[in-house]
Amino acid sequence: MAVSMRTPLTRVLGPKTATGMSEGLGLETVGDLLRHYPRRYATRGEQTDLADVEVGDRVTVLAQVRSVTTRPMRNRRGSLTEVVVGDGSGRMKLVFFNHRHAQLKPNAWGMFAGTVGEWRGEKQFAHPDMHLLDGADDDADWARALIPIYPATKDVSSWVIQKSVTLLLGASGGLGELVVDPLPEDIRSRHGLLSLPAALLDIHRPTTMDDVERAAARLKWDEALVLQLTLAARRRAAALEPGIARPRRAGGLLDAVDAALPFDLTEGQREVGEELAAELDRDQPMHRLLQGEVGSGKTVVALRAMAQVVDAGGQAALLAPTEVLAGQHARGIRALLGPLGRAGELDGDADGTRVTLLTGSLKAAAKRQALAEVADGSAGIVIGTHALLQQGVEFADLGLVVVDEQHRFGVEQRDALRAKGNRPPHVLVMTATPIPRTVAMTVYGDLEISTLRQLPSGRGGVSSSVVPATEKPGWVDRAWARLREEVAAGRQAYVVCPRIGDVTGPDDEPEDADGAPAGDDDGRSERRPPLAVLDVAELLRSGPLAGLRLDVLHGRLTPEEKDAAMGAFAAGETQVLVATTVVEVGVDVPNATVMVVMDADRFGVSQLHQLRGRVARGKHPGLCLLVTEAPTASPTGQRLAAVAATSDGFELARLDLETRREGDVLGAAQSGRRSGIRLLSLLEDEELIATARTEATALLATERGLADHPGLAAEVAALATDERADYLEKA
Ligand code: ADP
Ligand code: MG
Repeated sequence: MAVSMRTPLTRVLGPKTATGMSEGLGLETVGDLLRHYPRRYATRGEQTDLADVEVGDRVTVLAQVRSVTTRPMRNRRGSLTEVVVGDGSGRMKLVFFNHRHAQLKPNAWGMFAGTVGEWRGEKQFAHPDMHLLDGADDDADWARALIPIYPATKDVSSWVIQKSVTLLLGASGGLGELVVDPLPEDIRSRHGLLSLPAALLDIHRPTTMDDVERAAARLKWDEALVLQLTLAARRRAAALEPGIARPRRAGGLLDAVDAALPFDLTEGQREVGEELAAELDRDQPMHRLLQGEVGSGKTVVALRAMAQVVDAGGQAALLAPTEVLAGQHARGIRALLGPLGRAGELDGDADGTRVTLLTGSLKAAAKRQALAEVADGSAGIVIGTHALLQQGVEFADLGLVVVDEQHRFGVEQRDALRAKGNRPPHVLVMTATPIPRTVAMTVYGDLEISTLRQLPSGRGGVSSSVVPATEKPGWVDRAWARLREEVAAGRQAYVVCPRIGDVTGPDDEPEDADGAPAGDDDGRSERRPPLAVLDVAELLRSGPLAGLRLDVLHGRLTPEEKDAAMGAFAAGETQVLVATTVVEVGVDVPNATVMVVMDADRFGVSQLHQLRGRVARGKHPGLCLLVTEAPTASPTGQRLAAVAATSDGFELARLDLETRREGDVLGAAQSGRRSGIRLLSLLEDEELIATARTEATALLATERGLADHPGLAAEVAALATDERADYLEKA
């Protein structure tokens, strides 16, 4: 039987094992299994893992039996066997009911797998799966110094995977027959990389940890190169699309915008502006990401690009992630343009254009009118939410798509809007979450990148502090007192909570788009539900903030209610806005100077940075107070301290990458979705990713492209058609 990487596992393994691998681990082919790498390697006598395992973890440990005691159960018939196993650093109890394990004797070595439970303060495995290592058929494994421990499930244990892999590694003809190395020979030799068969052998059956390291270095290359080839191919394809040049024209809307701006552009805004102006002037569509600190003034940069496109006869669409934000953009841009934004109205300027807002909550008549303006081209600037993506929204001549706060939109949404142009429009994506270089090279690898580092001068800056509510309850009172002082001085404040409140259940999931760390790294086992807007607002009204004009804003309000709440706050009528993270993105009220974040530990690092970007947007200095019950010394407390200590978004983005699982960053954490990234680390493999990017670009720039590298071409094609490509879309 000829076996290749594509052979289904059902043909080489028993049906039960193959089914278990498919269902539990998503492994379908020989290649999938060979690329299912050990999570770690156990060595007899010196491994540490018993001490580290956490209650609730599903783990496999290698340990030695210390004692075995069997006694009858008190209240039931039958017996209870307690086995104590140890591994040098820790001990753990295994419990079996009515079980006889003849081989389970002191000094025996075995692998034990199960979910770690707790009984009277002691960790234990109840009824673990086990695999004793002193049987004859294990001699070969037993002799090895390093035993691979695989990601496993209840149905397919680590040792079953190990056996299956061993079977494949020893297949007739050896791995050399089975595996075609996709990596071009010259890349391999230039970077001193193992062949694929050698690397696979070493990662699954290493003798030393050096073997593992060299194997991993090679296998990471495959991941990095295939990924970068995919992205390089996308960039090339995009560069070949025929677009329409939208050259700058003097005396039009852009000049009017510049004249109307109440401030001077920063140097960064001017430079990026020139960059965009030049790219819009080319008939290749622009694909650019504009990243900039919170408050660095990206909106104005985008507006100027939109004005240039309008001046050239096209339309520009601005896609915002929330209705609140779309409404705010529309208000801001209309105010700035004045009569120039009301062409066709009585007091409008005939040389101007129309600024049209299109959101899901428009009433039928208003929606009809908006759609008509978009379709006949009288709306030069169209602002909206997801509603813009819907069918029935037809543009006369869409020249530029601006996507605000990209992290809430996927590539396919960008593409849906792009498809509404007669020819591919220019695309500008804006994000206020600074992006570490490796993420830029992967998740955003198909975009060119501009950066705004500078904040407009005259900003007061935000100082942040952690308020440890449990350790220093007095500080919470001081926080409210500070807030009152600011309000007394004419300023305004936000109080942010993780949850809406009132009802509990699935409707009241945290309003948390960024994925605050779900786990609790403080060892506190019982967590109360997160604080809720409605509860906190009530408490503040009747307590520390009594007498202040206080309102709430959250996702369960109707769009009209949200608009009213936001409008009243923007107008200064509301002094304190108690809100969920709906204020996270882009909300701009320059008079707001204080933000108190309740249960700050429930938010991610980038999210907190975003949140505090809502204050000190004017000339007054801002204050951000992160209230938490997390102990100061806990990892969570430390994380918050780091957020308080730096206002450098790039540094925080890196910290975020460290604390969030990398898979989340790549969007691969959703169950059953395979990312194609197994070993590559965005944090640690920056250099490798950069080198692979260079190699990928060079490979594709040659006349024959991948024609001489069928193995590589096949891997790239597989990634493109595979669900694995999803992570590029959903990030
Ligand atoms: P972000 O980059 O976070 O989206 P915005 O575009 O909302 O920031 O701008 C933040 C605030 O700064 C807005 O009130 C905007 O009008 C103001 N602003 C933008 N550019 C400048 C500038 N060059 N000088 C002063 N204020 C500016
Ligand atoms: Mg913004």
